[in-house]
Amino acid sequence: MPDKRDYYEVLGVSKNASEDEIKKAYRRLAKQYHPDLNPNDKTAEAKFKEIGEAYEVLSDPQKRSRYDQFGHAGVDPSYGAGGSGFGGFSGGFGFEDLGDIFESFFGSGFGGSTRTRNPNAPIKGADIRFSMPLDFMEAVKGAKKTITISRLQTCSSCRGTGTAEGTSPETCPECGGSGQIKMSQRTPFGVVQSTRACSRCGGKGTIITHPCRTCSGKGRVRVNKTLEVSVPAGIDDGQSFVLRGEGDHGLNNGPPGDCVVTVNVRPDPIFQRDGFDIWCEIPLTYAQAALGDDIVVPTIDGKVSYHVPEGTQPGVVFRLRNKGVPYINGRGRGDQYVRVLLEVPRNLTNKQKEALRNFDSLMSDKNYEKRKSFFDKIKNAMGI
Ligand SMILES: [Zn+2]
Ligand SMILES: [Zn+2]
Repeated sequence: MPDKRDYYEVLGVSKNASEDEIKKAYRRLAKQYHPDLNPNDKTAEAKFKEIGEAYEVLSDPQKRSRYDQFGHAGVDPSYGAGGSGFGGFSGGFGFEDLGDIFESFFGSGFGGSTRTRNPNAPIKGADIRFSMPLDFMEAVKGAKKTITISRLQTCSSCRGTGTAEGTSPETCPECGGSGQIKMSQRTPFGVVQSTRACSRCGGKGTIITHPCRTCSGKGRVRVNKTLEVSVPAGIDDGQSFVLRGEGDHGLNNGPPGDCVVTVNVRPDPIFQRDGFDIWCEIPLTYAQAALGDDIVVPTIDGKVSYHVPEGTQPGVVFRLRNKGVPYINGRGRGDQYVRVLLEVPRNLTNKQKEALRNFDSLMSDKNYEKRKSFFDKIKNAMGI
């Protein structure tokens, strides 16, 4: 920055200009070279930056007096020290005083501002929550769904600036664009300087005199947005997945929020989930259980045949490997468990009853191991 221009020259004021003159000059020039009015104009951009830098120093009595004494070196520690990478503009003095208008232009993080609440800093859009009902099979297998969410989107009429077409925000006359009002208070310990956010512009440094009609100057509008969504296979009731960047749009060029979709899975009449395993129950007839049979078992992949062995007891559980739910975001899947129910026949006809009695008379202890051991235990216990 060897050829940094003189700050008084930059603002076009004399060395003994009053604070008011400096402010007026700055306001006029800042408006003239404001990037909103000079899109893609690098010269205007540089000019605007230079003006802000000059005003930063000359509007502050302390900095101004240091500048008057020592020149640029008095107010910018990086000056003459080999450059700071951004026009000598990121050293000891930041944008705290003038920051807003610059940060709205250069984006956040520039200048290392430590201000915690800056109305012009980029603000991330809010996350949106969406509850999605799903069938059991959709959750297990994954699904393509179309959803419509309500979100705030950057106004397309004004591209988020909030100003009517052909106009731009004006520098706030109250604070001169700084967004801050300086106050000095006389106390027993001397004069104490403090600043507060300008109430006229809410600390933004600019005011919108001609608001965009579409968004009423807010820069965003509420819109119903339809999205094509891929539900990940294996998701379970109550779980969520995230649609990155599909939430509310940000403010001041901030990034959008996310849309968080929580699934609400309707129960299935046949299947129940336990993590990635699936459970179901199959009723067998007495004869099927006693004789064994080839039965048809429903799975999420369709029907499979399963051989129930002879003498299958009620409550027995058999396992079908890899017939469970696919692991979400991974390879492999759980198992399916099938519990055998034994249905005792009802509404028997006389003929059926007769057949059953005949059948029963042919049975012996050999056919009923459990029964035999049970009565043996009773006999022993009672000493009969
Ligand atoms: Zn608008
Ligand atoms: Zn203001």
